[in-house]
Amino acid sequence: MNTRLDTPTNSQAASGLSTLGHSIAGVETAPAGTRLQDIFNPATGERIAQVALASAADVDHAVAAAKAAFPAWSETPPIRRARLMNKFLSLVNRHRDELARAITIEHGKTFSDAQGEVDRAVDIIEFACGIPQLLKGDFTDQVSTGIDNWTLRQPLGVVAGITPFNFPVMVPAWMYPIAIAAGNTFVLKPSPIDPGATLLTARLMKEAGFPDGVFNVVQGDKEAVDALLEHPDVKAVSFVGSTPIANYVYETGARHGKRVQALGGAKNHLVVMPDADMEKAADALMGAAFGSAGERCMAISVAVLVGSAGEALLPLLNERVKALKVGDGLDLSSEMGPVVSKVALNRIAGAIASGVEEGAEILADGRTHAVTKGSGFFLGPTVFDHVEPGMRIYREEIFGPVLACVRVDDMKQALTLINEHEFGNGVSIYTRDGGSAREFSRNVEIGMVGVNVPIPVPMAWHGFGGWKKSLFGDMHAYGEEGVRFYTRQKSIMQRWPESIQKGAEFTMPVSK
Ligand code: NAD
Repeated sequence: MNTRLDTPTNSQAASGLSTLGHSIAGVETAPAGTRLQDIFNPATGERIAQVALASAADVDHAVAAAKAAFPAWSETPPIRRARLMNKFLSLVNRHRDELARAITIEHGKTFSDAQGEVDRAVDIIEFACGIPQLLKGDFTDQVSTGIDNWTLRQPLGVVAGITPFNFPVMVPAWMYPIAIAAGNTFVLKPSPIDPGATLLTARLMKEAGFPDGVFNVVQGDKEAVDALLEHPDVKAVSFVGSTPIANYVYETGARHGKRVQALGGAKNHLVVMPDADMEKAADALMGAAFGSAGERCMAISVAVLVGSAGEALLPLLNERVKALKVGDGLDLSSEMGPVVSKVALNRIAGAIASGVEEGAEILADGRTHAVTKGSGFFLGPTVFDHVEPGMRIYREEIFGPVLACVRVDDMKQALTLINEHEFGNGVSIYTRDGGSAREFSRNVEIGMVGVNVPIPVPMAWHGFGGWKKSLFGDMHAYGEEGVRFYTRQKSIMQRWPESIQKGAEFTMPVSK
């Protein structure tokens, strides 16, 4: 099969718009009479396609396909599963720019940022190619005379992933490469806001040679999510999205007997100590607050300025904010693209208005930036100073290009502030002092910490996850915890007839 990755479509509606459908058992389908949702190009504001929203029956069809594929797939030796993953890896690398383009057109982030997203997905696919080593169990010879004991990890069955709009290639790749390499079959329910890249992914999985039914995509909204959470044949659900929905998915999935891992929202702080390299701290804040228009779960949305740091840092930040190039993500000179939708634009503008009303000092107002005059969903960068912990712009996740600066006297106050926040995804400290960095890293109640690193997203083999209301469940995504999440341990104890003594034993077996 010669894959062309330009426009994934299943059918052409009377409106002239194409409809993106599901990929079930290797077949792309958009059943007639399906509910549809519009897809927009955020840079132009234009409606560019529609996506089918799965019914419970469509979900059932996908789960049945995955269930049918499971027996043969789980019996396929891990090394052969890894070889297919290797083929998929080279296809993703070959089609990197088409995937990135699909992300930019539907999500809005800049093309180079989208390429970076694909590269981070590649890291996890590479990790999954090592599955024979990752599944290797432990063996103890002679736990008792003539008896050996070993452990192995077996796949769960059909597992599902529900993913957010902000990383349509990378976040699904936190899930399906490891789940599938471990011997499970997969149903992915991506965000209906930017579903195109997941259909391209499904085509590449097919071209790599994965048997039909091993990887399926159902497009949809709450109806599809509920159908997956309640389906008796779905054994585990991984979710990434906002905290209220993560909480709902965690509780509903657990109530239906599933293993659930649900990653939620965030409010990430970057602490600037007075001894930091201020030029580098200002650069870091720009990229971390305004990269991807602030629509990253690891975006920095709060700068904690310690002691005299504010006076040194803010003039440098101000210069950079004025110079930031905001525009269409396909224009290679743009540094920040639009936000994802009109709804997001209005929500973020509302949050900015609340900051002004609550008395924070607005240093740059993205609502009045020249770029907002066009038809796309654009905002300029917004910076607030003297933000207080009680204000809405401090407490809530805004998920847009808005940076709140909070002033504190010392690191102890910075730690208290951060530890009292309900979210616990990422945090960063900029300092030249090793002792401060060590004390901060050890005492901060946050899952992922950067020292002079603004967005400390762990590498593929370390695992990703926040604390507090940023993650519901016991295990982090990908890395070795990901392998554990998608497998269950079995312990086997074995002896052979020659070593079995005669006569029944009625006491607890102990080592002899
Ligand atoms: P979202 O919660 O609106 O949607 C996430 C998924 O849930 C989508 O597939 C969506 O279709 C589905 N969904 C939406 N409403 C639902 C409902 N009522 N019932 C059941 N399912 C529903 O999130 P989003 O806006 O797509 O993504 C942004 C959010 O994701 C932010 O809060 C961000 O912090 C978070 N996020 C977290 C991480 C992380 O690793 N912690 C990573 C990326 C994004």
